[in-house]
Amino acid sequence: MDILDIAGTHIARGERRRITINVAPLYDFTPSGIPVEVVRGKEDGPTLFISSTLHGDEINGVDIIRRLLNHKRLKGINGTLIAVPIVNVFGFNTKIRYLPDRRDLNRCFPGSKDGSLADQLAHVFMEEVVSRCTHGIDLHTGAIHRSNLPQIRACMDDAETRRLAEAFGVPVIMNSDIRDGSLREAARAYGIPTLLYEAGEALRFDEKASRIGVRGILNVMEAIGMLAPDPKAPEKTTAFYARSSYWVRAPYSGIMHAKKHLGDHVSKGQLLAVITDPFGQHRYDITAKSDGIVIGMSMLPLFNQGDAVFHIATFKDAKLVETHIDGHAETFVL
Ligand SMILES: [Zn+2]
Repeated sequence: MDILDIAGTHIARGERRRITINVAPLYDFTPSGIPVEVVRGKEDGPTLFISSTLHGDEINGVDIIRRLLNHKRLKGINGTLIAVPIVNVFGFNTKIRYLPDRRDLNRCFPGSKDGSLADQLAHVFMEEVVSRCTHGIDLHTGAIHRSNLPQIRACMDDAETRRLAEAFGVPVIMNSDIRDGSLREAARAYGIPTLLYEAGEALRFDEKASRIGVRGILNVMEAIGMLAPDPKAPEKTTAFYARSSYWVRAPYSGIMHAKKHLGDHVSKGQLLAVITDPFGQHRYDITAKSDGIVIGMSMLPLFNQGDAVFHIATFKDAKLVETHIDGHAETFVL
């Protein structure tokens, strides 16, 4: 494609442009819009979107995209990169997950022109960005006070999506074939293989999550032919597919003392954490229901009975996955 048109701006091959896709203004009539940077190589190739912050408080992807856009390797790409660091501009500016009317943008795709603000935002993003692309990566973090081990979520039934999920290069892949109004589902309906990268915690930057994220995106760009392979790249890590996952909840309200952390292997019945009163007098053990790896956990040690404490993924051989996570972490040590 010689000319790419996004929100009325024409971008020729070899050009790099910053565009704002207009959405609704703020209450005081201040204009607001989705900031986009388009990087076009001289040669034809795939068109990849990288989106972040569909959930307004999941800001780590902003750091990943900033690093990516300043990466020297972007000078030599084939095809087009469309980087969108903040999709939910309303939530980002108020530091909340949702839109001002409390709708979750990532449950409103593909959206509609005349629907709620979330519907309109989803619609314009589909029209101006996703529909122009051949591939996509959507960046997320855990919820507020909850951190996630860097992981890929993708629909493994699709061969190309599976190939890209493995190319990204994180040890843990969660197969998720969901029908939930997410961007990933809407992109899939357009036939666009899309990965979801989950890492870190809401309202925080996480160095390891950012480094692994940038490296993963570059790996995918190599896999789809946008970049030539990097001879200096660290050896790719083996990817393991989670069979399923489960949440471990607080058996009683109180203060948690964690014994296990992100990336740790846990075996059935093993102690994960202890919940106590402020004096440590009464004690409630939290144990694992089955073998697995801790892929998400609460960073806030205060719990009401029933609150989610750990997210554990189960694997064919969880011990082996833990070994790879350890090796992988060393590759990205500061
Ligand atoms: Zn999210």
